[in-house]
Amino acid sequence: MRLVFFGAPGSGKGTQSKRICQELSIPQLSTGDMLRQAIKDGSALGKEAKGYMDGGNLVPDQLILGLIAERIDQPDCKQGYILDGFPRTLPQAEALDGMLSEKGQAIDKVVYLEIDPELVVARLVGRRVCSACGEEFHVTNRKPKADGICDLCGAPLIQRPDDQEEQIRVRLNSYKQQTAPVADHYQAQGVLAQVAAEGEIGEITHSILKKLQ
Ligand code: AMP
Repeated sequence: MRLVFFGAPGSGKGTQSKRICQELSIPQLSTGDMLRQAIKDGSALGKEAKGYMDGGNLVPDQLILGLIAERIDQPDCKQGYILDGFPRTLPQAEALDGMLSEKGQAIDKVVYLEIDPELVVARLVGRRVCSACGEEFHVTNRKPKADGICDLCGAPLIQRPDDQEEQIRVRLNSYKQQTAPVADHYQAQGVLAQVAAEGEIGEITHSILKKLQ
């Protein structure tokens, strides 16, 4: 199954796509994670992307498209994948359609996680992520067992540079202007599945799985 997880920053795309990937045994392709890894590695791509990301702005389409084109051709993507955080602009969605149709493929479903934008700010400001494995915690909603330490691997937790309130507002704004129209693109293709993204994590996963049946 080829899926796209779509929604505002803080809608739980990353968390839910990881859970659904485990259920379906397909890889999660998160463009945000790929870019953060490129920054950690100090690659040319990472150096170019860092300024955009730290400010909360989108990275130019061309950089992202190269990354995705290469990734979906890997052998682990043969049975499908979940795209998390891509496409985020109409040109990206159109380019993805083109890449897939050349292979005789298409996106099966786009899971649209809907959330009140005001909830997003509180979720993101309190988010902490493991500097090694990427597991997510929250200062009030999901506290780690030991302060500042990942429950899974013991590495220190950090706050993403773009999870400061000012950058969150920039991200929400670019979501509204550039990303939200992508939902209409998939609605027109008849593959959009809307899911309420407020509530308990397990219940949301359950609602998503029902929509995918
Ligand atoms: P995320 O982890 O999905 O919240 O992405 C973090 C940041 O990576 C975004 O705020 C953008 O700067 C950049 N990014 C990730 N995916 C894309 C994309 N598809 N297009 C442009 N920028 C992206």
